[in-house]
Amino acid sequence: VSCVPGSCDVVVVGGGQGGLAAGYYLRRAGLDHVILDAQPQPGGAWRHGWESLRLFSPAEYSPLPGWGMPRQAGEEFPTAGHVVDYLEAYERRYDLPVHRPVRVREVRRAGDRLAVQTGAGTWSARYVISATGTWERPYVPDLPGREEFAGRQLHTVDYASPEEFRGQRVLVVGGGNSAAQILAEVSRIAEATWVTLRPARFMPDDVDGRVLFGVATRKAAGGAGESVSDLGDIVMVPGVRDARDRGVLHSRSMFAGMTERGVRWADGAEQTCDVVIWCTGFRPNLTHLAPLLPGWRQGEVAVEGTRSVDEDRLYLLGYGDWTGAASATLVGAGRTAKATVADIASRLREAP
Ligand code: FAD
Repeated sequence: VSCVPGSCDVVVVGGGQGGLAAGYYLRRAGLDHVILDAQPQPGGAWRHGWESLRLFSPAEYSPLPGWGMPRQAGEEFPTAGHVVDYLEAYERRYDLPVHRPVRVREVRRAGDRLAVQTGAGTWSARYVISATGTWERPYVPDLPGREEFAGRQLHTVDYASPEEFRGQRVLVVGGGNSAAQILAEVSRIAEATWVTLRPARFMPDDVDGRVLFGVATRKAAGGAGESVSDLGDIVMVPGVRDARDRGVLHSRSMFAGMTERGVRWADGAEQTCDVVIWCTGFRPNLTHLAPLLPGWRQGEVAVEGTRSVDEDRLYLLGYGDWTGAASATLVGAGRTAKATVADIASRLREAP
């Protein structure tokens, strides 16, 4: 059931894995809804990952609700392209009412409804689910001298493959999966230095998406025991294990500032480099919610479950652990989407 600019029970902002998971449950509940996605094609952030990017979990451990991800022939860990194909097929399979490209500019209060303003018109909704991810808000620390650096700087979002850095002196900054995977491939053809804020925490070799799926599921069910973050930060996918075998996985502490030719540590030591790749993460993409959420810019958004405390007709899906354990993963998106739609459905029953 979808609607043209006009009025809907629920508008979902964002048609990546989070928005599609919400769409699955909204459709199953028979709720009048629409999904507005800024991209011309399906796939969300998965369309933009670097060439070698893969899931860190096998296909069968990365299902959206209702229909698991088909295995990719010959690949234990599916490629980003396979995930995009899956999301595209998923939309078709459930005939989800995705309108694209439609960018939501602002969501405002409008009496007993919310006004969802876009370039294609304004939707009036009873409830809004925001699932806009983080990919459009890359984070780079504001260090002294960053503008002076004469070399190349790029964030994970702009990294495609190691080839362009062949033979150069490259600093990879960050302590997560992106940094470890990019360092692993850049170090094969360039002089790479790894820099992290704190010592890197590697998961045990036998922990990949299968185990994370189990741990996150247990935690979400209120189970005791360690959480995913207790296990470490970096999944030892094959490329990262190979880097370890090559003695590459040793990081230096974070530098204090940058110079025209490179970086400088607090003790005055300097290192010349040609390139800095900032694998320093993301911030939730909430710009469109500025009229509703006073703390949006700092990423400090108070929620109860996924429901906003500042505006209780607004739900936030898939932004990371603060919107539910592993909610930014495929399997976690489904779990938090189910709870979100159940909450909206019961409120609509109480006040049709
Ligand atoms: P996105 O995929 O970013 O989709 C958001 C959609 O909203 C986009 O289409 C965007 O265009 C749209 N949008 C944004 N703003 C607006 C607006 N104002 N109006 C309308 N539309 C808008 N997860 C796993 O499950 N397994 C993994 O192995 C895994 N590996 C990862 C590796 C890396 C390097 C990264 C960065 C992430 C990884 N993730 C993994 C996490 C997962 O890829 C992302 O968290 C996921 O893409 C988030 O999905 P989403 O739908 O929340 O957001």
